[in-house]
Amino acid sequence: MLWAKEGKKIRCFLCSFNCLIEEGKAGVCQVRVNEKGVLKAKNYGKVVSMKTKRIESIPFYHFFPGFQTLALTTVGTNFDWDITPYDKVKGTTVSVEDIIKSMNNKKIRIITFHQYEPTISFEYIFKIARLAKRYNIKTTLVTNGYIGSEAIKKIGKYLDAVNVNFKASCDPEFYKKYLNIPDTAPLFDALRNFKKHRVFTEISNTIIPDIGESETAHSKLVEWLVNNLDSSVPYHLLKFEPFSRFKEIQETPIEMLERFSFDAERSGLRFVYINDPSSSEHSTTYCYNCRHPLIERLGDVIIENKLNKDRCPDCGFKINVIVE
Ligand code: SF4
Repeated sequence: MLWAKEGKKIRCFLCSFNCLIEEGKAGVCQVRVNEKGVLKAKNYGKVVSMKTKRIESIPFYHFFPGFQTLALTTVGTNFDWDITPYDKVKGTTVSVEDIIKSMNNKKIRIITFHQYEPTISFEYIFKIARLAKRYNIKTTLVTNGYIGSEAIKKIGKYLDAVNVNFKASCDPEFYKKYLNIPDTAPLFDALRNFKKHRVFTEISNTIIPDIGESETAHSKLVEWLVNNLDSSVPYHLLKFEPFSRFKEIQETPIEMLERFSFDAERSGLRFVYINDPSSSEHSTTYCYNCRHPLIERLGDVIIENKLNKDRCPDCGFKINVIVE
């Protein structure tokens, strides 16, 4: 899917790299290959892990709160960040039908594609999402947002919710230097396209001490979200956790996330959360109108859900939340 021939080369337009791939070679993602003039996805059907999780842990706080999801990790990514080379993580093959069958057996009604970059397994997740729709299973996706408009158009009709995960508040310098992304504009195009196709959207932003804590970039990102999506878009500030490539960088302190949270709220975002398992204050959903606590959480765990369908039980204010 999502490619065209240009002479002997192939143009892939699944993601915004739009690679022009020579015969026998692969694109930036290393998994989409020009095999004798045909684009083949070497990662098709490959799964790294399949686990039942709380939807809040993904994180989705406003999409079917309290529900379980089957969280599926596929093989492949296009960002030079958490890249695990394709030759190191091959995964095991699981058929589309077996995934849906196992969900029906476990009575799980939501599937989530997350970690690495699920959109790089496009044909696979597309087929799962399409079959899921037939069984009334909801499909959600966590993505870095570097997905092309044609791909969103194709999968948009089967996709129920997306969490677009930014790093360092989408600071263009950070994206150039650490992710090898020359231009961040396609990420915002993707957000507009998800909106156009009515995919429920939450945003997450990983703040990285020293190298990704620009307050200017953060203010610009929040301003863009308020002006182009909605001030009610749920917004999650995530901790950076050190891993091999950046082991010298410390975990993001809560005080830093609190600073960004204050900035986000002051700039107009109504539902701002901090990923902190020890705090209820940072993870509870309050009514924007009367400040009544609606969904009390301790980190990702719901303590009490007081919502009256999608409304505040106290003042009746409608909340941007998808419930049964
Ligand atoms: S999906 Fe892979 S081959 Fe296609 S444009 Fe993106 S990086 Fe290039």
